[in-house]
Amino acid sequence: MSLLSGNPQASVGQPGQSATPSKGLYLESYGCQMNLADSEIILGSLAAHGYEPVETAAQADVVLLNTCAIREHAEQRVAQRVRQLIAERRDGRRMRIGLAGCMAQHHREKLLDEIPGLDFVVGPDGYRRLGQLLEAGEAVADVRLDQHETYADIAPRRGEGVRAWLTIMRGCNRLCTFCVVPFVRGRERSLPPEVLIEDLENIVAQGYKEVVMLGQTVNAYSYGDVDFAQLLERAAEVDGIERIRYTSPHPADMSERTIETLARTPKVSPYVHLPLQSGSDRMLSAMERGHDVDQYRRLLAKLRDAVPAIAVSTDIIVGYPGETDEDFEATSAFMEEMNFDHAFLFKYSAREGTRAFKLEETLSEDEKGARLQRLIAEQEARAARINQELLGSVTEVLVESKAKKQEGWLAGKNPQFKTVVFDPRTAAIGELVKVRIEAAGSHTLRGRQV
Ligand code: SF4
Repeated sequence: MSLLSGNPQASVGQPGQSATPSKGLYLESYGCQMNLADSEIILGSLAAHGYEPVETAAQADVVLLNTCAIREHAEQRVAQRVRQLIAERRDGRRMRIGLAGCMAQHHREKLLDEIPGLDFVVGPDGYRRLGQLLEAGEAVADVRLDQHETYADIAPRRGEGVRAWLTIMRGCNRLCTFCVVPFVRGRERSLPPEVLIEDLENIVAQGYKEVVMLGQTVNAYSYGDVDFAQLLERAAEVDGIERIRYTSPHPADMSERTIETLARTPKVSPYVHLPLQSGSDRMLSAMERGHDVDQYRRLLAKLRDAVPAIAVSTDIIVGYPGETDEDFEATSAFMEEMNFDHAFLFKYSAREGTRAFKLEETLSEDEKGARLQRLIAEQEARAARINQELLGSVTEVLVESKAKKQEGWLAGKNPQFKTVVFDPRTAAIGELVKVRIEAAGSHTLRGRQV
């Protein structure tokens, strides 16, 4: 995944874990995996105050939407959703409804005025105080950013599944001109490696097979003399963890040592999500991304040389202010040259508070939309072509669920993070099995267990 998804995710946690929950918490999470992982911290933090997850808002004493601010559209959808929940709040029941996460931090106290009936607003660094906040009788906001907050001492309450999130660092020091993240999540800070390894051992003990290390610039991880490469090495030594993933690395933070570690650590899956944003040097420079096209090209060549089976996905923004036809064509051509397995493609969305916000947009929504559609079509064809080359090959799948469309089939991810649906022989959820690929589209591989 890209960290930049605006889709609502399922509520996390395991409803009904306690036979008699004292207080019900209904939590919906939006946006990136960092947010999903934060929701698990919220559940962990509120469990200490007697809150247990419930399945519907109607059952809840507290309704919390953990939000994303990366695009305006994502915020509008959440605002609509929270207004709907407020309207549905049954008379006579003082259910408290609040917003958490990046949108809460982005608009702060203003949200309490703009959304009548909203009870509380809490930013990404306020979750340890959420229990006390909920005891307040009036509308209240906790939107202090805290440079030292890592929640290292709060055990996340993880949901069911084969894959666990492990936040290894928070915040970002990069300040790309278009991005609101540094303003809503603050500056970089990493968690102590011993805390992370202990949590990873808990993850294994809870039955997860795969861990995804998370950070806004995950490969900038640094704690004392432990860097990202060393953390990967230590994680790979934990018995019982089958696969280690990480997202999202920044191209400029990808050290030689990390590349060497990726190459010689089989537990680290051969997949990297490496955000590019634009294939034009002029745009990369305007965005202050910290690298140019040729540096990205050389980095990817090194990664592919070190890990030949690696699959690569990226993020692209189309229509950044000043993007010309030439810039756009350069992005299209560079995506083809890089032969990305997958791309998360977005129209530029101006975010208040960012440095790009003051720039005048030079393309209409329709023009941005047309550019986006072209890149989507090109990427679909590219992904289908890449996946077609896998026909007849055998890949290892970590089984995670029943297939949605085909009765009796199972689904999971292969090491390259491609979705594989397959006809099982003996496979069960949670197992690693070999599957021969018999059909391939742009998003899904289909096959049969061997
Ligand atoms: S690296 Fe840039 S795009 Fe990524 S979170 Fe930091 S500021 Fe935002």
